[in-house]
Amino acid sequence: MSSLIPVPQKSEFNGNAFVFSRDGSGAVKYDYVKDETIPVEGYEIKAADGHLVLKSSDEAGRFYGEVTLGALDALTGGAPGEFYISDAPAFGYRGYMLDVSRYFFDVETVLKHIDYMALLKLNTLHLHLTDDQGWRVEIKKYPRLTSVGAYRRRTLMRFREHGGYYTQEDLKKIVAYAHSRHISVVPEIDFPGHFSAAIAAYPELGCYGEHVKVAETFGIKYDVACIGKESTVAFMKDVLEELFTVFTDEYYHLGGDEVMCDRWNICPECRKQKEKLGCESWSEVQAYVLKELVSFLAEHGKKAVIWNESAPSPGSDKSVIWQYWQGGLDENKLTKEVNAGRRVIMSPSVPYYLDLPYSVNSAFAIINYKPVGDNITEKGNVLGVEFPLWTELVPTAKQADKKLFPRLIVGAEAAWRGAPEKDAVSRAEKYYPLLKRLGAKPGKPLCVKRGLSFIADRLWWERRRLYWGVLGNLVGDLKARHAAKRRLRQPDSHIM
Ligand SMILES: [Zn+2]
Repeated sequence: MSSLIPVPQKSEFNGNAFVFSRDGSGAVKYDYVKDETIPVEGYEIKAADGHLVLKSSDEAGRFYGEVTLGALDALTGGAPGEFYISDAPAFGYRGYMLDVSRYFFDVETVLKHIDYMALLKLNTLHLHLTDDQGWRVEIKKYPRLTSVGAYRRRTLMRFREHGGYYTQEDLKKIVAYAHSRHISVVPEIDFPGHFSAAIAAYPELGCYGEHVKVAETFGIKYDVACIGKESTVAFMKDVLEELFTVFTDEYYHLGGDEVMCDRWNICPECRKQKEKLGCESWSEVQAYVLKELVSFLAEHGKKAVIWNESAPSPGSDKSVIWQYWQGGLDENKLTKEVNAGRRVIMSPSVPYYLDLPYSVNSAFAIINYKPVGDNITEKGNVLGVEFPLWTELVPTAKQADKKLFPRLIVGAEAAWRGAPEKDAVSRAEKYYPLLKRLGAKPGKPLCVKRGLSFIADRLWWERRRLYWGVLGNLVGDLKARHAAKRRLRQPDSHIM
């Protein structure tokens, strides 16, 4: 009983024998009672005197009650003994993000990850669908986004093509599968940075119509969307318009992070726009463009989410939800922002990024992290937590599983309870058989690797940092400067 993850808010068992009965399909048989006094997504289960009763006020609560029964069945061999559980989540937003742009994961893998989420009572799947290294969603009005933008010739030192994308039908299937497990799906179209796959497909989306490749290296790229042209914003609206029929949930993620301004500095259209708006900084211009997209989303009943960035933020509009990852914003500034009315989703890279090595982000670090800081007075503005799996160096589903477990199990307890119990790591291992039933291949349940594996882990991390921060981008920087000089020499250029 105490092996359940997330551990229920309240559970008691008295030692009397109780064995589950089954229906025709082999599932645990219970009587259901609708009880309006039970909180949203919450449930109560009582197993006593030969009767099993599950109560909830909504379908999600009933679903989580069934998940608990299924887990108890597996963990106790169908004989849990008499018990009483009263349970409800601490956070309404319990997220997991899969980056399908850096590496493409097929529909079956995404469905499997949804199964993992359902077992762990996570309720929001964030799909990072577009980035410099690949555009993964079919947009009928712009077919080159996938025919060109979904493929790169090679990746770092791997000299073979990588690519793939989801048709809108694929994504509808994913969304329907998620909904049947009470999981919402948040699509992310990263804009105006992390956008070079789109520019590779449609060069006019960039500042000078220059031909760029879908990125073959990782890191922050110089080719970003031109924010001086009306047509770029129109493009984004067209993309979102098509997505509205696929992603029917409330939240839409617009990225907004890590935008290099080098191109804008030397783009006549961008400079004209900055002057026209009377903006002093590029982040103000970015905020203006973002505002237009946020209003467009609002007109369609959607709420915008962006990655946080340091102040002055492109998301100064308080209706925009921030996904906190850091990006120059320390927790004191975050606290002020939250107390002033900003709603946030907590995904601090340390300790919540699941691709980082265990020597950097251990499962214990997740246990020790408080998603709602002590100085936050407006606690309701912390909507919840999300655990991102970036995939720059996670090319296969098998490697993904090793990154996810046990950390996602412990993270799910943080999401459900506000903070995991101290023994969550040892209980996580007991969930491995349940995950294996879903097709998972979890790694050794090590939380902090030691010795040689610790060193290997560190080297892996340094390699990622090298790729991210130096090699490919040095070249990108040189190219950007060269393009700027060339542009400045042109007689019709209206820039200094
Ligand atoms: Zn421009």
